[in-house]
Amino acid sequence: MENSKKQLLRHLPKIDEVMNLLEQKGIFSKAPRDIVRTACRTVVDNQRQEIMRREGAGKEMPEPLIDRVAEKVMQVIEDLYTFRLRKVVNATGVILHTNLGRSPLSDDALRRLIDVAGGYSNLEFDLAKGGRGFRYDHVRRILCVLSGAEDALVVNNNAAAVLLVVNTFAEGREVVVSRGELVEIGGEFRIPEVMEKSGAHLREIGTTNRTRLSDYEKVIGSETGLILKVHTSNFKIVGFTEEADLSALVSLGKRYGVPVMNDLGSGCFTELDRYGLEREPTVRDVLKTGVDVITFSGDKLLGGPQAGIILGREDTLLKVKKNPLNRALRIDKLTLAALEATLIQHLQPEKAVIGLRTLKTLTEPLSTVTKRAKKLLSALQKERFEGLSIALKKGTSMAGGGSLPTQEIDTALLSVVSARMSPSALEERLRSLDVPIIARISDDEVLFDLRTIVEEEFIYIREGLKKISSSQGRSL
Ligand SMILES: *Cc1c(COP(=O)(O)O)cnc(C)c1O
Repeated sequence: MENSKKQLLRHLPKIDEVMNLLEQKGIFSKAPRDIVRTACRTVVDNQRQEIMRREGAGKEMPEPLIDRVAEKVMQVIEDLYTFRLRKVVNATGVILHTNLGRSPLSDDALRRLIDVAGGYSNLEFDLAKGGRGFRYDHVRRILCVLSGAEDALVVNNNAAAVLLVVNTFAEGREVVVSRGELVEIGGEFRIPEVMEKSGAHLREIGTTNRTRLSDYEKVIGSETGLILKVHTSNFKIVGFTEEADLSALVSLGKRYGVPVMNDLGSGCFTELDRYGLEREPTVRDVLKTGVDVITFSGDKLLGGPQAGIILGREDTLLKVKKNPLNRALRIDKLTLAALEATLIQHLQPEKAVIGLRTLKTLTEPLSTVTKRAKKLLSALQKERFEGLSIALKKGTSMAGGGSLPTQEIDTALLSVVSARMSPSALEERLRSLDVPIIARISDDEVLFDLRTIVEEEFIYIREGLKKISSSQGRSL
């Protein structure tokens, strides 16, 4: 080993020395001794490795002075006590953004979270009988009223709902599914893989673009446990296509005594066509076909917390409820509190499209979005950021979250161009703010889509750009 390296290694401070220095700096008011010690070891080890990695560059390497090591440890500790899961501004225009937490919760839902989850609750306690109750009973009646279903059950998310129902009816047996519906939802959720994990054998029928009723009928036999129809959610097959409609599948299932399930993905309670959007059959429409069981998410078009909602015939759901897997996939009290509040909002459809941010964002008229864009534009122009040009533009937002895949929603954008920074550098700076702003880049411009930004978030954009511009020497 070169002498310079040996020298540097010799000068690495001892853990106890660093600990003493940090104690003087008052670190133990922030973190306990063992956490600080672990952080010290990590920092000193990293320094040692860095010295070893250097090749003949001993001179360039600053001495691992104790002050510098202590400073690094302080940073590590500071970082450890900082929230990783943080609020961000969704400027992408993707309304149900899977990576940004999908549906924001309503004020009503948040209040319920605090009220119910901050203390004890009757989560599994029957107040009338004074004995054990069932957690999913709290939302059973309201779900039945909203949908016309005979019975309801809620679990952790829709993936869990699919797994649970398929396992209940088809473990060790066959599930019949069209090849046109073997979808990947994103985040590695693939329908065929979930089927396999549920212990069912997938019986694929038809072709990618065409599956007929007769294709189902041909394979139904003593091994068939379930006929499954899956909402294709995030894509559409167009052109020369054919699929068996749900009513026909229901009749087929009845004829052969096989239950029929429909995984709806989004599951919509709102008549979206009233707001100029594509018609998406509502949950009530779907249940009218007589389908045995349907599943959908709580945090897609429903606009609530992550949850898997299972609706259907009473006898069918009784079997699902008895499945021991139900215990492993059960919904927690926070979700339940937020879900109940969200469902009560859906009892007043006109208010739901205002009170639930997902629905409000989806159905807001372009004129309102444009007005908001102009307001942000003028607020930003008042700041006179040097070197920054901002302009109002037209564009389209997307529903996202595997909902309404072909729906283009007109929107208003602000395009932001910096004289000093490339669009990708600006986009990165926006992402690294205390309240990160997640924007998209198109045609060499950073775009803020005002459909997914609310007025309360303007302050983060204004202050964020101020911070970026001041660290650039007042000019962007
Ligand atoms: C989104 C989706 C799922 C998964 O739902 P999660 O609530 O994310 O678990 C399953 N099936 C379909 C068709 C979907 O669109």
